[in-house]
Amino acid sequence: MPAIKCIGILTSGGDAPGMNAAIRAVTRAAIYNGLQVKGIYRGYKGLVTGEIKEFKSQNVSNIIQLGGTILKTARCKEFCTPEGRQIAYENMKKEGIDALVIIGGDGSLTGARIFAEEFDVPCIGLPGTIDNDLFGTDTTIGYDTALNTILDAVDKIRDTATSHERLFFIEVMGRDAGFLALNGAIASGAEAAIIPEISTEVDQLEELIKNGFRKSKNSSIVLVAESPITGGAMHYAERVKNEYPGYDVRVTILGHLQRGGSPTAHDRILASRLGAAAIDAIMEGQRNVMIGIDHDEIVYVPFTKAIKNDKPIKKELVNVLRELSI
Ligand code: ADP
Repeated sequence: MPAIKCIGILTSGGDAPGMNAAIRAVTRAAIYNGLQVKGIYRGYKGLVTGEIKEFKSQNVSNIIQLGGTILKTARCKEFCTPEGRQIAYENMKKEGIDALVIIGGDGSLTGARIFAEEFDVPCIGLPGTIDNDLFGTDTTIGYDTALNTILDAVDKIRDTATSHERLFFIEVMGRDAGFLALNGAIASGAEAAIIPEISTEVDQLEELIKNGFRKSKNSSIVLVAESPITGGAMHYAERVKNEYPGYDVRVTILGHLQRGGSPTAHDRILASRLGAAAIDAIMEGQRNVMIGIDHDEIVYVPFTKAIKNDKPIKKELVNVLRELSI
């Protein structure tokens, strides 16, 4: 295998707080180990259009505390075609980039896996998504910050919910994963969480009402994961209006608020460790793995495993929420 002298770094797909801390860590660890670094702008789009710039240590100064990504992010349809990836490969070679570090979610890592297989390019992935839905890592970069943003919002909504004695459905992100909704509900003291992992098994609304939901309370908060499987918060509010008209129902959709903000200490440390480990992995000759953390140890997770396997929700967490919300 030829020696790797220059790495390219990009952030792709949905942005997540802590991506900048990861860019900083990858850049500095690479330079520390004698590698050249090139920043690729707007995810795979920049690889296709050649928006690439050399990064020195000072390019990543003063960014560890910033939300978003200084490299920008985008969704790139062209990269989903063999022709688009061919152009990306040619640009990479033209720039002298020998390996890629990709920070993103399952879509971005799927793209990395396909690209790595097609062109025999070493690719290392970092889990960057607020959804925490990548298998093989305890948490993903951005998840803890998003969770804290949710807590802040729910605490505020609770004030008004209590004053008006209302039932609030608060929609949080999560696509097909209920981590934000479930742990957000536990941490904010919400009464329930409606998550995709359970939606297909039981009618969660019916369960809530049947179990004496709100028996001893004058207001309630239910977190709902935004997902085609749950149907989202509006769907549940409509159902309550129709099926249980006694409740005074309101909906708040937290939306993109959850993606922003300064990363928490947890996310900054996670991003720094994973970023440094990405360079260790490259120096060791690893390729086509996502760097994760499992029981506080760095682990290398093959792309196929990280993407394909559903990360299970712990039943224990579902029980904790149920027991503590009586
Ligand atoms: P995330 O990484 O947050 O899950 P997306 O699913 O939008 O975000 O994926 C980000 C980008 O990754 C896409 O815009 C596309 O460029 C690339 N990508 C996703 N899936 C594929 C695929 N099957 N083949 C090639 N590239 C892909």
